[in-house]
Amino acid sequence: MPARAASHKRGVLGRLIDAVLPPRCPGCGAVVLAQGRFCAACWGQLRFLGEPWCAGCNLPFVLDAGPGALCAACAAAPPRHAGVRAAVAYDAVARTLVLRLKHGGRAAYAGTAARLMARLMPADATLLVPVPLHRWRLWSRGYNQAALIATALTRLVAVPSDALLLQRHRATPMLRDRGPAARREAVAGAFRVRRPAALHDARVVLIDDVYTSGATANACAAALLDAGARSVTVLVWARVLADHAD
Ligand SMILES: [Zn+2]
Ligand SMILES: [Zn+2]
Repeated sequence: MPARAASHKRGVLGRLIDAVLPPRCPGCGAVVLAQGRFCAACWGQLRFLGEPWCAGCNLPFVLDAGPGALCAACAAAPPRHAGVRAAVAYDAVARTLVLRLKHGGRAAYAGTAARLMARLMPADATLLVPVPLHRWRLWSRGYNQAALIATALTRLVAVPSDALLLQRHRATPMLRDRGPAARREAVAGAFRVRRPAALHDARVVLIDDVYTSGATANACAAALLDAGARSVTVLVWARVLADHAD
Protein backbone atom coordinates (compact mmCIF):
# COMPACT_ATOMS: atom_id res chain seq x y z
CA MET A 1 0.00 0.00 0.00
CA PRO A 2 1.46 3.39 -0.89
CA ALA A 3 2.35 5.67 2.02
CA ARG A 4 -0.42 8.10 1.17
CA ALA A 5 -3.05 5.37 1.18
CA ALA A 6 -1.74 4.06 4.52
CA SER A 7 -1.85 7.58 5.89
CA HIS A 8 -5.39 8.03 4.64
CA LYS A 9 -6.50 4.73 6.15
CA ARG A 10 -5.07 5.58 9.57
CA GLY A 11 -6.53 9.08 9.33
CA VAL A 12 -9.99 7.65 8.79
CA LEU A 13 -9.43 5.15 11.58
CA GLY A 14 -8.26 7.93 13.88
CA ARG A 15 -11.40 9.93 13.16
CA LEU A 16 -13.55 6.86 13.78
CA ILE A 17 -11.82 6.22 17.10
CA ASP A 18 -12.32 9.87 18.03
CA ALA A 19 -15.99 9.64 17.08
CA VAL A 20 -16.94 6.50 19.02
CA LEU A 21 -14.95 7.04 22.21
CA PRO A 22 -16.05 9.59 24.80
CA PRO A 23 -13.88 12.74 24.77
CA ARG A 24 -10.94 12.28 27.09
CA CYS A 25 -8.45 14.69 28.63
CA PRO A 26 -5.19 14.58 26.60
CA GLY A 27 -3.26 14.67 29.87
CA CYS A 28 -4.80 12.07 32.18
CA GLY A 29 -7.46 10.31 30.12
CA ALA A 30 -10.37 11.43 32.32
CA VAL A 31 -13.66 11.80 30.45
CA VAL A 32 -14.24 15.48 29.64
CA LEU A 33 -17.13 17.41 28.09
CA ALA A 34 -15.57 18.26 24.73
CA GLN A 35 -13.06 16.52 22.46
CA GLY A 36 -9.46 17.57 22.97
CA ARG A 37 -10.03 19.70 26.06
CA PHE A 38 -7.97 19.30 29.21
CA CYS A 39 -9.57 18.54 32.58
CA ALA A 40 -9.18 21.31 35.17
CA ALA A 41 -6.37 19.51 37.02
CA CYS A 42 -4.24 18.98 33.90
CA TRP A 43 -4.97 22.48 32.62
CA GLY A 44 -3.63 23.80 35.93
CA GLN A 45 -0.40 21.85 35.42
CA LEU A 46 0.34 23.28 31.95
CA ARG A 47 3.06 25.92 32.04
CA PHE A 48 2.27 28.52 29.39
CA LEU A 49 5.32 30.31 28.03
CA GLY A 50 5.68 33.98 27.23
CA GLU A 51 7.80 37.04 27.86
CA PRO A 52 10.26 37.89 29.28
CA TRP A 53 12.31 35.80 26.89
CA CYS A 54 15.48 35.76 24.79
CA ALA A 55 15.17 38.06 21.76
CA GLY A 56 16.84 35.40 19.61
CA CYS A 57 15.18 32.10 20.51
CA ASN A 58 12.36 33.09 22.91
CA LEU A 59 13.85 31.03 25.74
CA PRO A 60 11.90 32.23 28.79
CA PHE A 61 13.93 34.26 31.30
CA VAL A 62 13.25 34.08 35.01
CA LEU A 63 14.04 37.78 35.30
CA ASP A 64 13.28 40.45 32.71
CA ALA A 65 16.64 41.41 31.18
CA GLY A 66 15.06 44.09 28.97
CA PRO A 67 14.24 44.17 25.26
CA GLY A 68 16.89 42.69 22.99
CA ALA A 69 18.52 40.57 25.72
CA LEU A 70 19.94 37.29 24.44
CA CYS A 71 20.48 33.93 26.14
CA ALA A 72 24.05 32.59 26.26
CA ALA A 73 23.54 30.30 23.25
CA CYS A 74 22.13 33.07 21.02
CA ALA A 75 24.81 35.53 22.16
CA ALA A 76 27.47 32.99 21.12
CA ALA A 77 25.83 32.08 17.80
CA PRO A 78 22.79 34.14 16.69
CA PRO A 79 20.13 31.83 15.18
CA ARG A 80 19.11 32.26 11.54
CA HIS A 81 15.43 31.78 12.41
CA ALA A 82 13.27 34.58 13.77
CA GLY A 83 12.46 32.93 17.12
CA VAL A 84 11.04 29.79 18.69
CA ARG A 85 7.52 30.21 19.98
CA ALA A 86 6.28 27.40 22.23
CA ALA A 87 2.80 27.17 23.75
CA VAL A 88 3.86 25.30 26.88
CA ALA A 89 6.88 23.84 28.67
CA TYR A 90 7.50 20.14 27.99
CA ASP A 91 6.25 18.96 31.39
CA ALA A 92 4.36 15.75 32.18
CA VAL A 93 0.95 16.80 30.81
CA ALA A 94 2.39 18.31 27.62
CA ARG A 95 4.48 15.17 27.08
CA THR A 96 1.48 12.86 27.49
CA LEU A 97 -0.39 14.77 24.77
CA VAL A 98 2.59 14.31 22.43
CA LEU A 99 2.88 10.58 23.11
CA ARG A 100 -0.86 10.01 22.56
CA LEU A 101 -0.81 12.09 19.38
CA LYS A 102 2.28 10.33 18.03
CA HIS A 103 1.80 6.77 19.15
CA GLY A 104 -1.78 6.50 20.41
CA GLY A 105 -3.56 7.50 17.21
CA ARG A 106 -5.39 10.38 18.90
CA ALA A 107 -5.33 12.75 15.94
CA ALA A 108 -7.81 15.11 17.63
CA TYR A 109 -5.05 16.17 20.01
CA ALA A 110 -3.37 17.98 17.10
CA GLY A 111 -6.33 20.36 17.34
CA THR A 112 -5.80 20.72 21.09
CA ALA A 113 -2.17 21.71 20.55
CA ALA A 114 -3.06 24.02 17.65
CA ARG A 115 -5.67 25.92 19.69
CA LEU A 116 -3.04 26.79 22.29
CA MET A 117 -0.34 27.54 19.70
CA ALA A 118 -2.49 29.89 17.61
CA ARG A 119 -2.04 32.85 19.99
CA LEU A 120 1.71 32.76 19.23
CA MET A 121 1.32 32.79 15.44
CA PRO A 122 3.33 35.70 13.95
CA ALA A 123 0.91 38.27 12.51
CA ASP A 124 2.77 38.39 9.18
CA ALA A 125 2.93 34.61 8.57
CA THR A 126 2.22 33.58 4.98
CA LEU A 127 2.98 29.83 4.97
CA LEU A 128 3.03 27.00 7.54
CA VAL A 129 5.57 24.21 6.95
CA PRO A 130 5.57 21.16 9.26
CA VAL A 131 8.89 19.52 10.15
CA PRO A 132 8.85 16.46 7.85
CA LEU A 133 9.35 12.82 8.78
CA HIS A 134 11.55 10.60 6.66
CA ARG A 135 9.34 8.44 4.41
CA TRP A 136 10.20 5.25 6.34
CA ARG A 137 9.03 6.83 9.59
CA LEU A 138 5.94 8.15 7.83
CA TRP A 139 5.29 4.64 6.51
CA SER A 140 5.55 3.01 9.93
CA ARG A 141 3.54 5.64 11.82
CA GLY A 142 1.07 6.38 9.05
CA TYR A 143 0.98 10.13 9.61
CA ASN A 144 3.18 13.07 10.55
CA GLN A 145 2.02 14.63 13.83
CA ALA A 146 3.59 18.00 12.89
CA ALA A 147 1.57 18.02 9.65
CA LEU A 148 -1.63 17.28 11.61
CA ILE A 149 -0.89 20.27 13.87
CA ALA A 150 -0.14 22.49 10.85
CA THR A 151 -3.43 21.49 9.21
CA ALA A 152 -5.32 22.25 12.42
CA LEU A 153 -3.58 25.64 12.64
CA THR A 154 -4.52 26.46 9.05
CA ARG A 155 -8.17 26.00 10.01
CA LEU A 156 -7.75 28.35 12.97
CA VAL A 157 -5.60 31.15 11.53
CA ALA A 158 -6.34 30.90 7.78
CA VAL A 159 -2.67 30.68 6.79
CA PRO A 160 -2.04 27.89 4.24
CA SER A 161 0.17 24.93 5.13
CA ASP A 162 2.30 22.81 2.82
CA ALA A 163 3.45 19.43 4.12
CA LEU A 164 5.17 18.46 0.87
CA LEU A 165 7.42 21.48 0.41
CA LEU A 166 10.16 20.44 2.83
CA GLN A 167 11.50 16.87 2.70
CA ARG A 168 13.65 14.84 5.07
CA HIS A 169 15.55 13.02 2.35
CA ARG A 170 17.94 11.30 4.72
CA ALA A 171 16.81 9.25 7.75
CA THR A 172 18.28 10.80 10.88
CA PRO A 173 19.17 8.93 14.08
CA MET A 174 17.53 9.60 17.46
CA LEU A 175 19.14 12.74 18.84
CA ARG A 176 18.34 12.33 22.48
CA ASP A 177 21.65 10.86 23.68
CA ARG A 178 23.87 13.16 21.63
CA GLY A 179 25.60 16.39 22.54
CA PRO A 180 24.90 19.68 20.69
CA ALA A 181 27.67 19.27 18.10
CA ALA A 182 26.73 15.64 17.36
CA ARG A 183 23.06 16.66 16.99
CA ARG A 184 23.95 19.38 14.50
CA GLU A 185 26.07 16.93 12.54
CA ALA A 186 23.34 14.26 12.55
CA VAL A 187 20.77 16.52 10.85
CA ALA A 188 23.07 18.63 8.67
CA GLY A 189 21.93 18.40 5.06
CA ALA A 190 19.04 16.06 5.93
CA PHE A 191 16.36 18.48 4.67
CA ARG A 192 15.69 19.86 1.23
CA VAL A 193 13.07 22.05 -0.39
CA ARG A 194 11.20 20.50 -3.30
CA ARG A 195 9.77 23.64 -4.88
CA PRO A 196 11.91 26.67 -3.98
CA ALA A 197 9.64 28.92 -6.09
CA ALA A 198 6.87 28.41 -3.49
CA LEU A 199 9.09 30.15 -0.92
CA HIS A 200 9.51 33.37 -2.86
CA ASP A 201 8.95 36.21 -0.38
CA ALA A 202 7.38 33.73 2.09
CA ARG A 203 7.33 34.40 5.79
CA VAL A 204 7.38 30.79 6.91
CA VAL A 205 6.29 29.37 10.25
CA LEU A 206 7.94 25.99 10.85
CA ILE A 207 5.60 23.74 12.86
CA ASP A 208 6.61 20.89 15.19
CA ASP A 209 5.33 19.13 18.29
CA VAL A 210 8.41 19.43 20.51
CA TYR A 211 11.48 21.67 20.49
CA THR A 212 14.40 20.04 22.25
CA SER A 213 17.91 21.16 21.30
CA GLY A 214 16.95 23.12 18.21
CA ALA A 215 19.17 21.01 15.93
CA THR A 216 16.26 19.81 13.77
CA ALA A 217 14.51 23.20 13.66
CA ASN A 218 17.77 24.97 12.80
CA ALA A 219 18.50 22.55 9.96
CA CYS A 220 14.96 23.00 8.58
CA ALA A 221 15.17 26.80 8.90
CA ALA A 222 18.52 26.81 7.11
CA ALA A 223 17.09 24.75 4.21
CA LEU A 224 14.06 27.07 3.90
CA LEU A 225 16.12 30.27 4.09
CA ASP A 226 18.71 28.98 1.64
CA ALA A 227 15.86 28.16 -0.76
CA GLY A 228 14.58 31.73 -0.64
CA ALA A 229 12.20 32.13 2.31
CA ARG A 230 12.20 35.70 3.61
CA SER A 231 11.97 34.60 7.25
CA VAL A 232 11.37 31.45 9.30
CA THR A 233 9.81 31.49 12.75
CA VAL A 234 9.56 28.21 14.68
CA LEU A 235 6.24 27.43 16.39
CA VAL A 236 5.86 24.32 18.55
CA TRP A 237 3.48 22.82 21.07
CA ALA A 238 6.05 22.26 23.82
CA ARG A 239 9.63 23.25 24.56
CA VAL A 240 12.10 21.29 26.65
CA LEU A 241 13.41 23.82 29.16
CA ALA A 242 15.33 21.83 31.75
CA ASP A 243 18.27 19.66 30.84
CA HIS A 244 16.15 16.65 29.99
CA ALA A 245 15.72 15.54 26.40
CA ASP A 246 13.24 13.06 24.98
ZN1 LIG B 1 -6.56 15.58 32.83
ZN1 LIG C 1 18.25 32.50 22.84
